[in-house]
Amino acid sequence: MANNMDLSPEELEKMLEKAKRDAQALLDRMTPEERARALTQTDQLIEADQASMQKLIDDAARVAAAFPPKEKETPKFCPNCGAAAEGGKFCTYCGSPL
Ligand SMILES: [Zn+2]
Repeated sequence: MANNMDLSPEELEKMLEKAKRDAQALLDRMTPEERARALTQTDQLIEADQASMQKLIDDAARVAAAFPPKEKETPKFCPNCGAAAEGGKFCTYCGSPL
């Protein structure tokens, strides 16, 4: 399943086209009864597929919400000597209060 995510849109498109051709070839060989049955099964498969896709999207949204992007830390500099401050109250280079 995860591998499908690595496919480019072109590859996906090709796979879809091939799947459609295969399905059409299969349908052409079927009796009308078989065809009707196959179409019903296909509809069910598609529904299941969409449900699992929706679940994937929901999961991804949940994960994204659980790990919000870190706020970009604005670099601070000592007002006295200009050295990069490392988060303390005083400059590590000159000791000036930050
Ligand atoms: Zn300093």
